[in-house]
Amino acid sequence: MATPYSFLTHLECSKTGHHHDAFTPQNLSNEKHPLLAIYDLEAAAATFTPEAIKSRPFDLWRYHEVLPIQEERHCLKLGEGGTPLHPAPTLGAELGIRELLIKDEGMNPTGSFKDRGLCLAVSAAYQFGRSGIALPSAGNAGGSAAAYAARAGMKCLVAVPRDCPEVNRIEASVYGAEVHSIDGLISDAGRMIAEMAPDRGLFEVATLKEPYRIEGKKTMGYEVFEQLGRLPDVILYPTGGGTGLIGMWKAFDEMEQLGWIGSERPRMISVQSEGCAPIPKAFEEGAEASEMWQDAHTVASGLRVPKALGDFLILAAVRGSGGSAIAVSDEELMRDARRIGAAEGIFAAPEGGACLSALRRLRESGEVGRDDTVVLFNTGTGAKYVEAFLGPGAAAQHAEL
Ligand SMILES: *Cc1c(COP(=O)(O)O)cnc(C)c1O
Repeated sequence: MATPYSFLTHLECSKTGHHHDAFTPQNLSNEKHPLLAIYDLEAAAATFTPEAIKSRPFDLWRYHEVLPIQEERHCLKLGEGGTPLHPAPTLGAELGIRELLIKDEGMNPTGSFKDRGLCLAVSAAYQFGRSGIALPSAGNAGGSAAAYAARAGMKCLVAVPRDCPEVNRIEASVYGAEVHSIDGLISDAGRMIAEMAPDRGLFEVATLKEPYRIEGKKTMGYEVFEQLGRLPDVILYPTGGGTGLIGMWKAFDEMEQLGWIGSERPRMISVQSEGCAPIPKAFEEGAEASEMWQDAHTVASGLRVPKALGDFLILAAVRGSGGSAIAVSDEELMRDARRIGAAEGIFAAPEGGACLSALRRLRESGEVGRDDTVVLFNTGTGAKYVEAFLGPGAAAQHAEL
């Protein structure tokens, strides 16, 4: 018998563990929590090994056994994943870290790692024969979703706050999406989408309101392992909705069950901006979930998430890994985005800059040592943040939610 393309078996509520059918389109669990995709890893382990996949193209589909798309003909491909893990020797020397690496997610097709998640979410909607997708976006998600919808010949509806960066509105419309600018916050855009999507027969792909985006983002965990030949000691991740952090944490568990790794885990550092820092606040207070952050503002648009649906999963991963959560100022993160460019030749997004600022603090406090292997995630290209790089005056107009 041929091995299946995917070893997906069912979906599980992230809070109650209740099972849900994986072969119909699903959003939240019956209990209104994020759903997680579960695979028959014991069966997959027989053929899905680092050795066996070595000759496959280096993109995220090389991990198809542990992705939720059943047949290759439904995989929408634009060259997502397989991003470089660059050594950062100049910054490493500056901070006193022997091995510092930057995972450059700006190299994804639409310039951010949103492509990993949305390529899976749109492929899932496509596999289930849905006519289109809908989502709110304050930054890179809208353009990414629109690109994959265009690839599939599907409709895409995006709602953005009126003050979202101009390029994000433009890219979504260039990819043929219907873009609604909302006078209000990202949460208002979210409410509008939640109302409109069912009426128009569109599948909603808002962060963590479906189980597929996490699956795409988790491939960053598999990739870092393959590129490094082991797991790093520390991972710095700029956190908005937290899909990437939750996803990588899930990937490490899968990799252990597959026999790729043992029980070792990197310390996961969740990085946010001081203008919107619900996760560091909850972390410091010892809380299991975060509270809605009031007046959220930061030039790092990917981090402007006042209350993440999966906050309890982010906090559990951070604590379970022995990591921490850190907030840095917009001034620091913009300075460090520039520093990454000047030191290493990578045009980093402000979110990537935030990780460098957080790493400086961890190095000063001694929480990260000279001999730690550190992977810093640059989650997007700086080229999409013209207003932010133009300076405080220009950025401020776009910074308020
Ligand atoms: C969306 C986004 C983030 C936050 O990602 P989550 O997985 O939602 O936490 C970080 N950086 C950039 C550039 C983004 O677009």
